[in-house]
Amino acid sequence: MSAPASSAAPLLEVRDLQVSYGGIRAVQGASLALHAGELVSLIGANGAGKTTLLNAVTGLLAPAAGSVWLDGQPLDRVEAWQRVSQGLVMVPEGRGIFARMSIEENLRMGAYLRRDAQQVEADLASVYQRFPRLKERRQQLAGTLSGGEQQMVAMGRALLARPRVLLLDEPSMGLSPLMVDAIFDVVRDIAAQGVTILLVEQNAHRALQMASRGYVMDSGRITLDGPAQQLLDDPKVREAYLGL
Ligand code: ATP
Repeated sequence: MSAPASSAAPLLEVRDLQVSYGGIRAVQGASLALHAGELVSLIGANGAGKTTLLNAVTGLLAPAAGSVWLDGQPLDRVEAWQRVSQGLVMVPEGRGIFARMSIEENLRMGAYLRRDAQQVEADLASVYQRFPRLKERRQQLAGTLSGGEQQMVAMGRALLARPRVLLLDEPSMGLSPLMVDAIFDVVRDIAAQGVTILLVEQNAHRALQMASRGYVMDSGRITLDGPAQQLLDDPKVREAYLGL
């Protein structure tokens, strides 16, 4: 009999992470773990430290203490770009689009570390299949796109890096309700293809509905975690994060 997922070694693990900006301790000892194939949501109020935690996981920020592990190996000495090569890929808050580059140039940036040119072309074709709107406009400057289209470019670019773990920072931010639905459908679809996802969202209700587990972050600490349904039913979560 195969072991339950929870007893296998995590694909991504954050251990007792602390991150400071000068005297501001934005993350004050946060731990979390993602097992292969999971879609996990991280929710919390503005300023709780979610983006800071993601930036430390990707190597953009150096932690003051604690560590990040991928495949059971510590990433302390692994540069941000090497983490991308190892499959740890982020779609940043605000999307990080190169406004003066075309859609296609933006997408290809996701593959800049790859040497498997043929497979890159096949992956580009599959991103265009997933987002036909981007294909129609592939020469258009990305800065002229709507927020939802830019989010598609950011996700497409991340997919071209062949993620094993995808870190999504507020993908629904600033989008119309229809576009939010479309983006969450894409997230669900990417997860169904086996990509492990950590979804950071202000839209806590939607994020927990699509996740198997969730973490709640408050003032730099993980204050609650558990099965997503348990968090959705938790009176404290309902009051503080779901507005119920
Ligand atoms: P939001 O949902 O608003 O993006 P968040 O949970 O992602 O919030 P962070 O952006 O990680 O939170 O911010 C955590 C804390 O660190 C906040 O108090 C914020 O003001 C502070 N902070 C973030 N970036 C910097 C920075 N570059 N310099 C100084 N302080 C920062």
